[in-house]
Amino acid sequence: MCLLGTGGTLPLPDRSLSSLYVRVNGRAMLVDCGEGTQVGIRRLGWGFRCLEGLVLTHFHGDHCTGLPGLLLSLEKAGKDEPFDIYGPAGLKRVVEGLCVIVPKLSYAVRLHEYPPEGREFEMIGLQIRAFPVNHGIPCYGYRMELPRKGAFDPERAAAMKVPMEDWKKLQAGECVRVGLRKIHPEDVLGPERKGISFAFSTDTRPCETLRKYTAGADLAILEGMYAEEEKAPLALKNHHMMFREAAGIAKEAGVEHLILTHFSTSMEDPATEIGCAREIFERTEAGQDGTVIRLNYPRDREPARMTIGRKEGWYTPAERPIADG
Ligand SMILES: [Zn+2]
Ligand SMILES: [Zn+2]
Repeated sequence: MCLLGTGGTLPLPDRSLSSLYVRVNGRAMLVDCGEGTQVGIRRLGWGFRCLEGLVLTHFHGDHCTGLPGLLLSLEKAGKDEPFDIYGPAGLKRVVEGLCVIVPKLSYAVRLHEYPPEGREFEMIGLQIRAFPVNHGIPCYGYRMELPRKGAFDPERAAAMKVPMEDWKKLQAGECVRVGLRKIHPEDVLGPERKGISFAFSTDTRPCETLRKYTAGADLAILEGMYAEEEKAPLALKNHHMMFREAAGIAKEAGVEHLILTHFSTSMEDPATEIGCAREIFERTEAGQDGTVIRLNYPRDREPARMTIGRKEGWYTPAERPIADG
């Protein structure tokens, strides 16, 4: 996955607004679509057409105003399959409002509004749980799981006289016939193995659902709006999280890694503030626009293997050409 935007409230030249590109075996989706998301996707180079859908956290502008441009970019990329958008109640009204300027598209846009308690659904092979968080307006975090089938047992397949050319089908979950007998995948696969799990949640105070649905995840990407202690009253008032609060969630939930995002424009370089989070949860990183995170299936019962890097072509804070104000 790639963090396309790690800014909160307002964009900076090196920090676009909230968006995460998630790709699984060539299929892709977005979480949030802040202004400029389509620019981030171009920089990344992972493509538009493979995007099957978008899930929104909430309807503050920094999380959804990139939508009209994204839909136009999808059309220009030749998209003809339906595009699914999931979000809080009111989604239809928000999308219709934002898309007054979008002409009729070459593909269908399907809208799915959550009931207050959120919902479970599937996208790009991920099992997704949208859960409500605490931001003053309806806002949802996401738990995503990539399940993993059991290991293929060639001895069992050979004993059942399954021809080798059919092994791939069984591994892919299809049944095959051997003479008059139907062989099911579970006949030749071992028990389901540990998959990959991660959580994404921004714009919330620490809350019980956030703890519950980040529990045990291989990775949590959480909001760190402010680091400096004097900003704590502001975080409380505007329903945002401090670095130390996100680290507290990561620790209590027992996640493997924490990456912070959604930084206030008042923070020059979030990486230099990371100490206050690491005091609480050591394996914390500050996300940057262009941060690429790769999670691989684990061995046996271990956590997923994570690598983190940065795509070239994004600004660094030192290169920021325009001062604030
Ligand atoms: Zn926000
Ligand atoms: Zn917000």
